[in-house]
Amino acid sequence: MSDLLTRASSINRALDQIGDKWSLLIIQEVFWGINTFSGMLEATGVSRGVLSDRLKWLQRIGCLRKRTSSPESRRAVYHLTRKSIELYDSALMAIAWERKHYRTPSLDAVQLMHKPCGKLINPRMICGTCGEDVDGREAHYLPGPGATKDVREKKVRRRSTLSVDEVPSERSVYRNLVNLVGDRWTANVIALAYHGQNRFEEFHKELPVATNILSDRLRFLVEQGVFGSRAYQQRPRRFEYYLTEKGWDMYPFFLTLLQWGDKWCDPEGKGAPMVVTHESCGNHLKGRVVCDHCGEVLLAHDVDIYLE
Ligand SMILES: [Zn+2]
Ligand SMILES: [Zn+2]
Repeated sequence: MSDLLTRASSINRALDQIGDKWSLLIIQEVFWGINTFSGMLEATGVSRGVLSDRLKWLQRIGCLRKRTSSPESRRAVYHLTRKSIELYDSALMAIAWERKHYRTPSLDAVQLMHKPCGKLINPRMICGTCGEDVDGREAHYLPGPGATKDVREKKVRRRSTLSVDEVPSERSVYRNLVNLVGDRWTANVIALAYHGQNRFEEFHKELPVATNILSDRLRFLVEQGVFGSRAYQQRPRRFEYYLTEKGWDMYPFFLTLLQWGDKWCDPEGKGAPMVVTHESCGNHLKGRVVCDHCGEVLLAHDVDIYLE
């Protein structure tokens, strides 16, 4: 299996930077105010070696900044940067998806309070132009100014080698999502499905992945209820995969990654590789994450999160 040259996608670029399980979890913890090495160690259930590796990586790509808390204590604390603060929309959409599809006492206990309106809220994503709720089935893609081919490496440096069965700490408020998205191939296959690809051979053509791993990830997605499958040929029997409602409900999360990737993962500054159009209104689809009560855009410093 060698590297592949495929159509550039900001989703893939974003995933290659922050899409591994532990990076997602570390950024999540910093959003909730856990910002020391020992705090993160405890909160995520990660090993010391992996944590220190990911912290270095996140600093290198400009997603975390290390500071000393005070001259007396000299304890290192990690801060978000302008780049990583903009992943807040992704965190909110991850919570929204998780809450809709999973029920556990710890998830039920999570509350988000929007300080400007004082209400407990559910974040939702609307089209920035027409204000309708974003539905991935109404998105259309065209090559953008930065359309090019990217090398898809067989191995991405930062990827954890953890299996999909390895589960992050109970405390994570979007652990199910992290389990799906934190695996490179699983996330890539979901993204391809949003672009209308649905057969094994199509996925295989776009991804430098071994066939047994691809089969395994597709089975996992069916088990998790993100994909359904149906036979489109009898002899030999071949299947195609389609997104379920649960799978489509994940679209706003992926759109936040695409928007973030357009802005922060554009090494040559050429602009978006792909332009997303909202078919219902005909405009460029810019998803905005808003409060379901007052309709205002949700900003990190305006939202309080209560974990229990
Ligand atoms: Zn629209
Ligand atoms: Zn509000």
